[in-house]
Amino acid sequence: MEKQLADIWAYAQSVAAGEDNLPEPPDLTTINKEKVQDTVDTLNQVLGKKEGIDKKMKAKLGYVTKHYPVNIARYEQQEAILGGRNSYSKTDPDATFMKLKEDHMRNGQLKAAYNVQISTSNQFIVNYTIHPNTTDTNTLAGHLEQHERSFGAAPKSLTADAGYGSEENYTLLEEKKITAFVKYGLFDKRQNQAFNKKYPFAADKIYYNSERDYYICPMGQKMSYIGNRTRKTTTGFEQTVRLYKAQNCQSCPLNGACHKSQNDRIIQVNVNLERQKQQADQLLKSEEGVIKRKKRCWDVEPVFGNIKNNHNFRRFMLRGKQKVEIEWGLVAMAHNIRKRAA
Ligand code: SF4
Repeated sequence: MEKQLADIWAYAQSVAAGEDNLPEPPDLTTINKEKVQDTVDTLNQVLGKKEGIDKKMKAKLGYVTKHYPVNIARYEQQEAILGGRNSYSKTDPDATFMKLKEDHMRNGQLKAAYNVQISTSNQFIVNYTIHPNTTDTNTLAGHLEQHERSFGAAPKSLTADAGYGSEENYTLLEEKKITAFVKYGLFDKRQNQAFNKKYPFAADKIYYNSERDYYICPMGQKMSYIGNRTRKTTTGFEQTVRLYKAQNCQSCPLNGACHKSQNDRIIQVNVNLERQKQQADQLLKSEEGVIKRKKRCWDVEPVFGNIKNNHNFRRFMLRGKQKVEIEWGLVAMAHNIRKRAA
């Protein structure tokens, strides 16, 4: 819409060049319902009564006048329902389309679903939250908040799988002084010798001189610090990476095997995340960490297995997040009572 409106505006300016009372150009850096309506009105005011207008432009203006104000109003409404998600179900706008393990058609079909998060203690459900997120990473903060509301304090330690091991989550757990037995993405693979040998040129295998702050690439060349890059995650968390650049990659015999770029290799190092990963490594490999990792498998996973397979709860019967929360709360209570009575 921005582009089409800017195109028609440029054309209107060229047609009405030299006229005295040409309106101010619209600011189309961001658009909304009011701006689109104002721009369409102004374009009609400038081009509407002119003779000899290009036929294509006239048709374009006609289309824009008829559809854009209506469409943008609809898009704004849909974006408000989406609330940052990529999709929502028309029959339950709180539900998001997700890829589920249950895939009878075997075609990866997306289904309207909720992401259920639970915390367990010896297979009793002690906390649960319902999320619209398709992945687990961004559910931790909300889940911890709910824990603090229920118990009046944050837990002392937390065990979770690699789906939760992000810089944002590690930082949150540090701030709350929670000991994090949380794996990061490649934790399991890094314990495998074959995997470690498979990528000899990976950035984490390159020697770092911490005193002088530079890396030495596999060919023995210096990779110098060239600056920082910051980016924000979807939740607004700011991540900073340091960039180090190699020299003369074009004439290097390892070029192609070492990296695929046409230019000199640049590696990105997230210092904070690397520190957090090292800390996670230490904790997860400690005696306590090994016990907690084993416990996670028989503590939380069987709860889902029991509810879904033994008691055949595979679909929510209600719609809307609030009702789904109540429904899952009843399921959780029933699970705990059954467990207590067993
Ligand atoms: S390709 Fe570049 S970064 Fe890789 S080993 Fe050769 S010089 Fe070093």
